[in-house]
Amino acid sequence: MNDTRSTCPYCGVGCGVIIESDGARITGVRGDPDHPANFGRLCSKGATLHLTASPAITAQARLLYPMQRASRGAPAQRVGWDDALDTAARRFNAVIDTHGPDAVGFYVSGQLLTEDYYVFNKLAKGLIGTNNIDTNSRLCMSSAVAGYKKTLGADAPPACYDDVNHADCLFIIGSNAAYAHPVLFRRIEDAKRARPDMKVIVADPRRTDTAGLADLYLPLQPGTDVMLFHGLLHLMLWEGWTDNAYIAQHTTGFDALKQLVRDATPARVAQVCGLREEDLLTAARWFALSPATLSLYCQGLNQSRSGTAKNASLINLHLATGQIGKPGAGPFSLTGQPNAMGGREVGGLANLLSAHRDLANPAHRAEVAALWGVPDVPAKPGLTAVELFEAAADGAVKALWIACTNPAQSMPDQATVRRALQRAEFVVVQEAFLTTATADLADLLLPATTWGEKDGTVTNSERRITRVRPAIPAPGETRHDWRIGVDFAQRLRPGNVLFPYHTPESVWNEHRESTRGRDLDITGLSYALLEQQGPQQWPFAQGASQGRERLYEDGVFPTADGRARFVATPYQPVAEPRQSSFPFSLTTGRLRDQWHGMSRTGTLGRLFGHVAEPCVELHPQEMARLSLANGDIAEVTSKRGTLRLPARASESVALTQAFIAMHWGAEYLSGRGKDGEPIAGINAITTSAHCPDSKQPELKHAAVRIERAEQAWTLLAMAWLPEANAISARETLRQLLPELPFALCVPFGRERSGVLLRASAAEAPSPDLLARIEAALGLNDSGALRYEDARAGQRRVVLREQRADGQPGLRAFLIAGDTRAQTWLKPLLEDEQPLAIDARLLLLPGAQAPVAMPARGRQVCTCFDVSEDAIQAHLAQADGDDAERLASLQATLRCGTNCGSCVPELQRLVRLSAHPAAEATI
Ligand code: SF4
Repeated sequence: MNDTRSTCPYCGVGCGVIIESDGARITGVRGDPDHPANFGRLCSKGATLHLTASPAITAQARLLYPMQRASRGAPAQRVGWDDALDTAARRFNAVIDTHGPDAVGFYVSGQLLTEDYYVFNKLAKGLIGTNNIDTNSRLCMSSAVAGYKKTLGADAPPACYDDVNHADCLFIIGSNAAYAHPVLFRRIEDAKRARPDMKVIVADPRRTDTAGLADLYLPLQPGTDVMLFHGLLHLMLWEGWTDNAYIAQHTTGFDALKQLVRDATPARVAQVCGLREEDLLTAARWFALSPATLSLYCQGLNQSRSGTAKNASLINLHLATGQIGKPGAGPFSLTGQPNAMGGREVGGLANLLSAHRDLANPAHRAEVAALWGVPDVPAKPGLTAVELFEAAADGAVKALWIACTNPAQSMPDQATVRRALQRAEFVVVQEAFLTTATADLADLLLPATTWGEKDGTVTNSERRITRVRPAIPAPGETRHDWRIGVDFAQRLRPGNVLFPYHTPESVWNEHRESTRGRDLDITGLSYALLEQQGPQQWPFAQGASQGRERLYEDGVFPTADGRARFVATPYQPVAEPRQSSFPFSLTTGRLRDQWHGMSRTGTLGRLFGHVAEPCVELHPQEMARLSLANGDIAEVTSKRGTLRLPARASESVALTQAFIAMHWGAEYLSGRGKDGEPIAGINAITTSAHCPDSKQPELKHAAVRIERAEQAWTLLAMAWLPEANAISARETLRQLLPELPFALCVPFGRERSGVLLRASAAEAPSPDLLARIEAALGLNDSGALRYEDARAGQRRVVLREQRADGQPGLRAFLIAGDTRAQTWLKPLLEDEQPLAIDARLLLLPGAQAPVAMPARGRQVCTCFDVSEDAIQAHLAQADGDDAERLASLQATLRCGTNCGSCVPELQRLVRLSAHPAAEATI
């Protein structure tokens, strides 16, 4: 058995992992105790990484060979690498020769390694001569980039994870770190436990599990963050809580900001933000007067039409109070992706150049051209993500190269994105997984390596560079992303000498040289040093013995005069304010156990235990007002389309608001809109309105209408399937989903592989469609029992199996028509209960459960498979205070004692069981 040190490929915490393998197969994963990001901890996602690399998943979900489609919609056929690259070069050259270099575009990813990113940036800007290269980090971090540059002078988060241990006040805003950055949240929990006096403020429209840790929770209205920050500064000025010496010595522009916030009176801020004036005063006092205040923030600030203003206005508070450049203090943006930082370092965005240089700066362009050995870098700004797909939809961009990302799931306003992918003359998708929605729309598919196979570096949220190492050989004909870029460059311009790389280290060494003298100087680092001394933070200039933990301790900023700049931007409401025809504010966010478009986490049924199916969450009063019960199908309509999905009551969602997780794309949730158009998941209804500075879209708010969908015909089908074809069966079903007005398809099962399909329609669909669903689930087996009443639209199919104890059990079923009376079939199959009755009785419409069959409670603890029901049952008889009841819960059921990802939820359940009313007020 081999141990290989590498990095988790999910969030920006950047946890170190040790991959266990037998040289050919990954057999296990554990946290790296020596990695300074996690010290051995992993969350529920990281701890299951090895399971996502099983041979069965690799065989079904991975793209292992280059494939090509003769036309859109045709099946992809395997081709050789030489043919694939020749085709790509020929098609790109044809477009460039006819329409110029700006008629092609690259859309890459914060999941690429730094070396991959560097090659693609140079390929577009240096070789082809277009700045049309942008990345999914545009959807994630570009407001943080713009905010840092406008205020502090460089895109450099000044704080580090250890600051959590030194902060006296933690201001968490626009971040559900308990779900999105779980291992960092474990540190925050530890810090709060060690120093209960540390004040924690959480500001978020949703009362998330992160808010459960708050001493002060600010449930601000969506999009009103700038008003909140201006109001806090107003109070600080009024109370004399600003640090005037710091302002005088280290900043410029304060007078204009003072003028601006004059109108942000407590009364006005309270009214606009929906907060209490006394809470504003408390927040201002804690922020300004605590010895050290650290802000942690993420997409709640970034994904906004005012994203840059939100970031800058928060940084204003740190500068005005001197809460920066000292242990425990500073504005610390958390990156969503594992290498969003690395992408920023190499300038992998349409408006940036290598090593934090600006495209708009002629001197910077000349420096990069000299470094690359090209005559120049084009001055014309490239198209950012939304602009790139709009240009393709309009026909201006004719060839697209998409690497390691899934825009047909993740981009807002999917109608435009789909139009872009249909209209583009040539679409290349370079991917590790064949199961993404974008892969369906490619002309050419190029197979890439992924976690466990890749070699290079990534940089996490605290500027720490870590090696990513391969544990097993690349499967099939997959190639490393940087290598695909180099191979394409050689075909595109034969004989060019711009890409002389044979190893990722040779790419990285060139990147390192580009940083010389820059704010992120890493000329003192090398692969060898990373091997010997482990992960390092930048800057780490030549001659330095270590990187810098935190920045700006001397009060000198990377601006022309060395001073930080206050930015005075007036508050603007969201792009689509609620109105009578769209009275709800829809927000999106993460689930605890899923990551992004779920191409990897979606391969594991066990990661669907916590949240099993897509749903729209609403406040219980809104559910009642709309006559919705849990599980009823709701229609969520924005100006862009209608999405149908089950509704669920949630106390964490405020009145007039709604929440849908960002992960549910067309791979899981599909159907047809009111006008018959295909529904492409959650982003069918989100808006592409974006920040004018950062161009980051407002994924955190869309005005929507919600109604109960009256659909008489319903379908529920479930099956246990052999591991070797469960994903393939789901892929078959995915292709059928758009034929129904509403349908979702998800995996389930911890030790076995299950697939669930749920659908509804106004009337029964064709028997042929039902037959195809049955075939995908193995219900066309000759041993299946059937009942059908076509006139009444009723259909029931049941397939038995023999359990390990010799008793009959249920392997698969499909019930269609009126399914309400038989939802008990779900736990019967899911819990692998013995069939206590003659199976033919299951076929009867309205058949009752043979024994009491309570619906299985939601899984709270993924590691030990502990359900909410079991937790509630234990808490009902547990004594003591909250801490003692939590300890008793953990000692008895073991929940929350491994990865800890469920601890915030356990704490909430403990509090709720003891003081149900108190939860409503914090
Ligand atoms: Fe991976 Fe979880 Fe660590 Fe994020 S917190 S890097 S998802 S293990």
